[in-house]
Amino acid sequence: MITRFAPSPTGRLHLGHAFSALTGHDRARAAGGRFLLRIEDTDRARCRPDYEAAIHDDLAWLGLTWETPVRRQSDHLAAYDAALDRLIAQGLCYPCGCTRADIHAALCAPQEGVTHLPPDGAVYPGTCRNRPMADRRPGDAIRIDLARALAAAPSHLPFIETGPERMGRHRLDPAHMLATIGDVVLARKDIGAAAYHLCVVVDDAQQGITEVTRGMDLFDATPVHVLLQALLGLPTPLYHHHRLIRDAAGKRLAKRDDARAIATYRAAGATPADIRRMVGL
Ligand code: GLU
Repeated sequence: MITRFAPSPTGRLHLGHAFSALTGHDRARAAGGRFLLRIEDTDRARCRPDYEAAIHDDLAWLGLTWETPVRRQSDHLAAYDAALDRLIAQGLCYPCGCTRADIHAALCAPQEGVTHLPPDGAVYPGTCRNRPMADRRPGDAIRIDLARALAAAPSHLPFIETGPERMGRHRLDPAHMLATIGDVVLARKDIGAAAYHLCVVVDDAQQGITEVTRGMDLFDATPVHVLLQALLGLPTPLYHHHRLIRDAAGKRLAKRDDARAIATYRAAGATPADIRRMVGL
């Protein structure tokens, strides 16, 4: 069993991260498996070296140990570009110059059947879907044409969830994915480099991850990852989505929520055992 904790160094780790890292670490240790740390730092504008150092410091303070060297996404950009090229060669991608404002304007009416926000915040309305890749302009993002991609892969691909909330065998549901996830971004316009959905799939395969540990907030992104694995010829790991740590108002913790940063509790004299207790472990 090989699992990982994959934070982005865009802020201090909070109680939600502590829960995620401890969950993965405890499960790996209990199974006699391996626990890896991965730094998801492709977003150069938001990632900072001091946050990255603080991740190591907070996790070590919590009592976690992980294998070295630690994988950093910024060291592997060529691998993501190669994966993107494979998807482009399969005719599954298109360039997109839409801004957030364009997308929201095109989505003037709430979409029927969308009961929760998809992984990228809104289901892309498809404005640029007919643009060929040859038309890519500087500053364009690249999106996957989800309908085409689903048609190119064996339909209803399975994946196994081991987390408590949706435990069991799931199958991709193309109609549901089109309505709730849509044409996600594979390479971002502002950084010109591969985006989360593509990097995570390449990384998990290259690191030999057998069980992905992460929060329930990413459960709806998993079908896209399983699809990308099939299109890229990569294995599908098991998935373990854990419950989310919420604030008193029931909101999922965010990086800017410094009040719940591990560092804040450390400064106030909390022990690692206190943190475990606070997250219900
Ligand atoms: N980097 C992501 C985050 O900070 C986690 C990605 C994953 O576990 O797949 O939320």
